[in-house]
Amino acid sequence: MLKGKTALVTGSTSGIGLGIAKALAAQGANIVLNGFGNIEGPKAEISALGASVAYHGADMSKPAEIEAMVGFAADTFGQVDILVNNAGIQHVARIEDFPPERWDAIIAINLSSAFHATRLVLPAMKTAQQGKGWGRIINIASVHGLVASAEKSAYVAAKHGIVGLTKVTALENATTGITCNAICPGWVLTPLVQKQVDAKAAALGLSNEEAKKVLLGEKEPSMHFTTPQELGALAVFFCSPAADNVRGVAWNMDGGWAAQ
Ligand code: NAD
Repeated sequence: MLKGKTALVTGSTSGIGLGIAKALAAQGANIVLNGFGNIEGPKAEISALGASVAYHGADMSKPAEIEAMVGFAADTFGQVDILVNNAGIQHVARIEDFPPERWDAIIAINLSSAFHATRLVLPAMKTAQQGKGWGRIINIASVHGLVASAEKSAYVAAKHGIVGLTKVTALENATTGITCNAICPGWVLTPLVQKQVDAKAAALGLSNEEAKKVLLGEKEPSMHFTTPQELGALAVFFCSPAADNVRGVAWNMDGGWAAQ
């Protein structure tokens, strides 16, 4: 379905970003990976799906590096057709104890980076398909873009912000072939969440499995984690012709978390 299209997925060396990159690669899209840590493993996983893959190591807190990454994607594959704003970090502390530099980093990486990448890919998306325009911008928000939890001030502010940015991006392009939507996962067992499981296990003297159950029991009625594969399938749907008129939604996949 996505043969000939190019997807840039930020923060795609692990977790949800890698899951979405693999789902788009399986549909034939060229993939530009981004993120830190192990690069060769994720590249090999994408190549094994028969897709072309490139990597750019932009630090998403730095606008100049985001600009270089979008330029690199265009130089490598022609242009960015699908942008998945996924890179994100977390810090858990009460507001009075929240380190200001952690606040700044979370707002930069989880929110401002999506603004920068979006403003940089839109001009080429508008000229696609003989000037009619085509593009898909998918923002990985969170159930924390819809509801709050204590001790996550920067994360909740950034994720509510990205839901707002999603709606504005959708509206400004509503008469074109460019759509923008957000995905709002509940708990997904990635390195970002394993750190919170570890903290709970240490604080309550629990095993890893017991701590996972406590974490799920606090928020997620289904009592199981959403998977990167499920989120990848939703991203593929947003890229499909069936989703041409799905614009500005914040779609939660959260085991019933926000329904409570
Ligand atoms: P993860 O830690 O597995 O992956 C984060 C990715 O972002 C990695 O590739 C990492 O290298 C990259 N990254 C971090 N800082 C970066 C920076 N400055 N520049 C470039 N890349 C950077 O985390 P994840 O759980 O897969 O999270 C991905 C997204 O999903 C985040 O936006 C997160 O807020 C969101 N999310 C996660 C969950 C969950 O339960 N795991 C739930 C809802 C939303």
